[in-house]
Amino acid sequence: MIIMTRDLFIYNTCSRNKELFVPINPGHVGIYVCGPTVYGDAHLGHARPGITYDVLVRLLRHLGYKVRYVRNITDVGHLEQDADEGEDKIEKKARLEQLEPMEVAQYYTIRYQAAMAKLGVNPPSIEPRASGHIIEQIALVQKILDAGFAYESNGSVYFDVDKYDKVYKYGVLSGRSIDEMIANTRDLDGQSDKRSSYDFALWKKASPEHIMRWPSPWSEGFPGWHLECSAMSAKYLGEEFDIHGGGMDLLFPHHECELAQNTASRGKGGVHYWMHNNMITIEGKKMGKSYGNFITLEELFTGKHPLLSQAFSPMTIRFFILQAHYRGTLDFSNEALLAAEKGLKKLMQASQAVKGLNVEPSLQPNADISQIQENVYDALCDDMNTPIALSHLFEAVRVVNTVANGKMKISSEDKAILEELLSVVVGDVLGLTDEAAQGGNESLIDGLITMILNYRQEAKAAKDWAKSDQIRDALAQLGVSIKDSKEGSSWNLK
Ligand code: ZN
Repeated sequence: MIIMTRDLFIYNTCSRNKELFVPINPGHVGIYVCGPTVYGDAHLGHARPGITYDVLVRLLRHLGYKVRYVRNITDVGHLEQDADEGEDKIEKKARLEQLEPMEVAQYYTIRYQAAMAKLGVNPPSIEPRASGHIIEQIALVQKILDAGFAYESNGSVYFDVDKYDKVYKYGVLSGRSIDEMIANTRDLDGQSDKRSSYDFALWKKASPEHIMRWPSPWSEGFPGWHLECSAMSAKYLGEEFDIHGGGMDLLFPHHECELAQNTASRGKGGVHYWMHNNMITIEGKKMGKSYGNFITLEELFTGKHPLLSQAFSPMTIRFFILQAHYRGTLDFSNEALLAAEKGLKKLMQASQAVKGLNVEPSLQPNADISQIQENVYDALCDDMNTPIALSHLFEAVRVVNTVANGKMKISSEDKAILEELLSVVVGDVLGLTDEAAQGGNESLIDGLITMILNYRQEAKAAKDWAKSDQIRDALAQLGVSIKDSKEGSSWNLK
């Protein structure tokens, strides 16, 4: 069931208000989300924006919109401490591991994509890389220079924050003032090419040892980190687009600088709604390598981390993340994950059970059941309130269990609503799928091949070599390779 007329409200970080979502082009939505800097394994912090914006895209599509979802890969220009000085994160990793920087980026991009796929995060419509858009970034630097909001200094180009602030006001997104920024930045040490400590790099001249470098009108160098998202969002979504998302940690400086770059080059910010997901804390503390509580997704999936008592499935992580509203903090702990695992199991069991419910043809629809459906959609359309939506879905679970136990009867309309909630909303919109059922497929394949191998064993025992070879060859064609040994035959999926 598609509910086209339903209004979606989202919280716009820029206006600090919950606003009615109105797309620029009716029926179409353009979304840009800042993706990962690919220099390390995907961790719990990546799961939250991955899942949050995946649910947003799924919800919009379910409501009937066509969505173009762009999520970038940062493979150049992101320096340590998110600042203008220091080593490039990817280049540093490459130096430590004696690899090409692009080898590092490729390796971690593939691992990131695989981890997202496990979490049920659909791939974006376009996944552009910063290093593949150097020409667009150079053109943007030139535009900002031409507009008078940047200056060149010793081969580098910096954004002139003071000049911009006089015309447009800098800090509207994060709510920071220049005075505050002065208090929070270090004094220039006299070595810097910048005019002000809060000016930021659009183009950096590469030092002799810097590997990732491209020719430009100013120097051989590389783009500043904030530049790529301005250039790539405009390229794929136009100079004005609907939604820009990312983690709260990107609000300042990354998104503030992006907004300033857009406005300086085009006279308008171009983003209609800014959305920011909050952070994950671990047992009340910020997650970070320096705190010793850094958890990769791989460690969660395998249970190999001192904070974990067991492995947690990707769907348990997804369910755990959706139990909190995306703008609220989410505190991670082993106990919280154990509780999420139980909750998810209940939900999945009801999703299966609903299909087999008996209906009572003579019954009228039950208003309480259609009310649950209303409540679920109201919650999802109210700034994507997934925890409230889940609490209403658990009311549907209770109804399913009561009917399954024979303590209540429902009409066929009610059953259709419950099925829609527990398969379409849970599966297609929230993206929660039944891992146990998928595991069931694996065991089915396992059982079928073992059965076939037993027939082959019988053929061999009867010295029917032609039959035995025929079975082996037929399996090989399906991608199943057989290894014969004294103990019997084993098999592998190629
Ligand atoms: Zn970005």
